[in-house]
Amino acid sequence: MEKTRQEGIRRAIAELNAAGDVAIVAHKGPDGDAIGSSLALASALRAVGKRVRVYARREDVGAPSVLDGMDSLSPPEAAATDPKPDLLVCLDCATVARIAVPHFRDGIASFRTLVIDHHESNPRYGTVNFVVDDASSTSELVFDILKAAGWPVSREAAEALWVGITTDTGRFSYSSTHPSTLECGAELLRLGVRQWHLNDEVFCKASLAATRLRALAYASLEMWCDGAVATIRLDADAYESLGCAKSDSEDFVDIPRAVRGAAMAVFFYRSFSAEPVTHVSLRSCDGRVDACAFASIFGGGGHRAAAGATLDCGLAEAERRVREALSGFPGISPATGDGGEVSPGSAVNRDFVSPSPSRRDAGTPCR
Ligand code: AMP
Ligand code: MN
Ligand code: MN
Repeated sequence: MEKTRQEGIRRAIAELNAAGDVAIVAHKGPDGDAIGSSLALASALRAVGKRVRVYARREDVGAPSVLDGMDSLSPPEAAATDPKPDLLVCLDCATVARIAVPHFRDGIASFRTLVIDHHESNPRYGTVNFVVDDASSTSELVFDILKAAGWPVSREAAEALWVGITTDTGRFSYSSTHPSTLECGAELLRLGVRQWHLNDEVFCKASLAATRLRALAYASLEMWCDGAVATIRLDADAYESLGCAKSDSEDFVDIPRAVRGAAMAVFFYRSFSAEPVTHVSLRSCDGRVDACAFASIFGGGGHRAAAGATLDCGLAEAERRVREALSGFPGISPATGDGGEVSPGSAVNRDFVSPSPSRRDAGTPCR
């Protein structure tokens, strides 16, 4: 393991050891990595006698709510009246603005914070930062910490880490899957992870309503920029009429990403809030485009391969703005051979297969 990573682990353990009362928070709209890393760290810290609260809204958690430990979540609004923690741990959260709890987000400077993350756009906003850009997931970093500290990893914690790692790596398939990631997978299985159950629940099953929502997403497919950009969209009415939440569409951006020849996949979805807000999920399909650099045009961020942004306008206006910014953006050119398909020898980076963090040497780094 690299020296800097070892040093980051050492400093993170020192922070955790010094704290008796720990608050854990991840990013808004928690995905498998956000919730998995949070539950795993909480479980291990409780086992060594610390008081730990994990702040997340249960209803915001989609398929990962199959995990044990979901009952122990504290609602975000409770943070304002709970005792001040000795340490605030921010997991998988690229920026202060993305922190899921307003009390922590608005008062970040008044807390001692440990940031554990793997977003290349992370500006290192913590008191102590353990940020590894090319790590598969925050869950892998948390597992590193637990092992190095010698803290017990229960089956409950191991399963949370499994969900975090598998969701962020597309089940060990993206280029962010390193040998160390697969070794983590093997170690987690040895700790009793029921992978058949978790994988089925997280990746294969969906409610009938969410399956119908997926059909709407498929039907909305549009190709832009001469086939270089594949897009889908869902407005708030689509979610509401089916009784679905945002978490029901967690992996829908994989629909446009699967269109052969597309360099960029975009999923637009309208927020439920009264103000017009549209979220954009971005995926670089094959390495031609830096999704993080594109997201930063709109104040967003993430990884080169997978990024997002939130626009303060309705769906139609968001589509207009994004479309305008896409035309002429580096890498957005049709990768056509005959029939609009990627031809051998086209501009595709053949080493790149990831909608998750990719290697930093591929193109302009996003900071
Ligand atoms: P998503 O498309 O929501 O799955 O997000 C893709 C990646 O971009 C994830 O790693 C997110 O944490 C990150 N991300 C999404 N939105 C933002 C944002 N507004 N700012 C920074 N990172 C973001
Ligand atoms: Mn995440
Ligand atoms: Mn992550």
